[in-house]
Amino acid sequence: MMRCLELAKLGELEVAPNPMVGCVIVYNDEIVAEGYHEKYGGPHAEVNAFAQLSDRIPTHLCDVFVNLEPCSHYGKTPPCSDLIIAKKPRRVCIGMLDPHHKVAGKGIKKLIESGINVSVGMLEEDCKLLNKKFIKAHTVSLPYVTLKWAETKNG
Ligand SMILES: [Zn+2]
Repeated sequence: MMRCLELAKLGELEVAPNPMVGCVIVYNDEIVAEGYHEKYGGPHAEVNAFAQLSDRIPTHLCDVFVNLEPCSHYGKTPPCSDLIIAKKPRRVCIGMLDPHHKVAGKGIKKLIESGINVSVGMLEEDCKLLNKKFIKAHTVSLPYVTLKWAETKNG
């Protein structure tokens, strides 16, 4: 998950207003593929990670790590939860739920219903910190503001 967050951060300047997302695929305790959401409107982290995975690796024995719940709706790209279900990894570890009203638990529900072992909350605080601006926008409909204040000594 720490690697997911490192990867996710690489998209920092290009993905807004989308969240920063990184995805890592593990087989036999080794990272065999990874990807991140690189650009707004472009493929999501999960798509990029699976595109990197060699055909020789049995997907059903892989674990997928992703810092944000895989999407479940058609946006600019098809839903990542459908892609993961088609690939059938044995486990999906998710850092945090997606607060976006179009996802909000639906992505996880789809994965669980398809029989994939899903866990949520790995390094959750770090995942929330990384996407604090995205989370604020989608939970209270306000922008995340940083205020830098300067004034003279006498006010
Ligand atoms: Zn997605």
